Amino acid sequence: MAPIAKVGGLGDVVTGLARACLSRGHKVNVFLPFYECINKQQIKNLELVNTYDSYYDGSWVSTNAYQGVVSGIPVIFVEPSNHFFKGQCVYGGSYNELEAYLFFSRACLEWMQVTGTQPDIIHVHEWQTGALPLLYWDMYHHLSLRIPKIALTIHNMEHYGECSKEQLSKCGLDGSIYATEEKAVDDRTIGHNPERISLLKGGIVYSNAVVTVSPTYLKETLCSGWLAGTLIRHREKYRGILNGIDTGMWNPATDIFLPAKFDALNIEEKKTCKHFVQRGLGLASGGHQMGSHAPDKVPLVVCITRLVPQKGLHLITHAIKYVKEISGQMVVLGRASDSRVEREFKDLADLHNNGSSIRILLTYSEELSHMLYAAADMVLVPSIYEPCGLAQLIGMRYGAVPVVRKTGGLADTVFDMDDQSQPEMANGFVFEGIDEASLNWALDRAFRYYCGKPNEWSAIVQKVMHIDSSWNNTAGKYIDLYNSIRVRE
Ligand code: ADP
Repeated sequence: MAPIAKVGGLGDVVTGLARACLSRGHKVNVFLPFYECINKQQIKNLELVNTYDSYYDGSWVSTNAYQGVVSGIPVIFVEPSNHFFKGQCVYGGSYNELEAYLFFSRACLEWMQVTGTQPDIIHVHEWQTGALPLLYWDMYHHLSLRIPKIALTIHNMEHYGECSKEQLSKCGLDGSIYATEEKAVDDRTIGHNPERISLLKGGIVYSNAVVTVSPTYLKETLCSGWLAGTLIRHREKYRGILNGIDTGMWNPATDIFLPAKFDALNIEEKKTCKHFVQRGLGLASGGHQMGSHAPDKVPLVVCITRLVPQKGLHLITHAIKYVKEISGQMVVLGRASDSRVEREFKDLADLHNNGSSIRILLTYSEELSHMLYAAADMVLVPSIYEPCGLAQLIGMRYGAVPVVRKTGGLADTVFDMDDQSQPEMANGFVFEGIDEASLNWALDRAFRYYCGKPNEWSAIVQKVMHIDSSWNNTAGKYIDLYNSIRVRE
């Protein structure tokens, strides 16, 4: 949940969607594990509301529920008295993640049960909460929770929540009854000893509605991957709803992290942001004089991403070399969770970071990300697959023209400048292959526009800044979905 527990796009979505629902007059509570790494300063009115017991692995674990407000959203923080969710990061703490989320899934329902809270909809995300629909329909619905219906959003189909029957049993369900093809067995393990369970598959089967985050990713997931069969069986409740961005948090006209504010009608100050970043990072700043309106001849490309294979690592490393070769500048802001990937990028940073055109920053920084989107002429998203992708949407809002691979949500939001079939949609540069030449082709075209057709470039920048990617456009689709499954009085 942005900004207190954000690792990638999921954090933005939880906050953005909750705020959009609140602003439409709905009542919303977010349940979040009380990760030890959360900065409590960012939570308003934090208070302990109750202490209750939630079952785990043969005993009852005393659990604190705190209430607080984050970015205007009421949040319930679940804090077990054991070691779960301790450590300095959201993911990868020193506890068993699978077991901690099984505990969390039950602890949320247990809290609703002991407090007599019955929402119309429980909206769960990803495999981490995939056991909640099972616990709800096979346990709590037979206790006192009658009203809620369950919606599941899948942000990334590659994380399945692999789990043994014994582990699933730790949350109080009989794990062995879920190891069937119709319920939750991981189909790839059928006939193996032991067979495994997938919490994501269980979530799909047991939820009343299943959403993924773009129409194209929906089609892709129905055609490939081992979950395709399950999704096809549940096709009538499966939809693709494009993510929005929170245009209050991502607003270049008011952004507190920027040295100068700008908007679509007053883009001049974007240059100030660019030069501020160039100077701050020690990049050549194109002989810019403050106050000069001369066109800036060196395009700045940014790539802000988790450094994982999904994001097209070989294309990112290639872009670093290629942008330098074609006399552009590039800044990569990324964090790698895998030590080999980190090593590779550290080596690249050592090679390039003393020069005047490339910076590779291996860290997570919300503040820097805002400044880089504002400074950028182009935002690069060369993903191998991309369920939705927010970087291209945020980039556009800040006047950075997207250069993306045509996959998933990128294909739904970025349309090529040179595609004559729908010129009114054109807003970026798109390539299809996963090879370096395909990426070069898109970058070459973007650079040619930028350097050779400054007026057309300005028009593209204006156009992308005017695109409405806010939750205004898509929250309504979620609300329609909630209405379609909820129990009506
Ligand atoms: P994913 O959810 O797969 O990480 P998205 O494009 O949907 O990808 O969302 C990524 C979000 O995380 C964006 O808000 C992006 O700005 C942010 N982000 C990614 N890496 C970093 C980083 N190193 N520092 C700051 N923000 C980052």
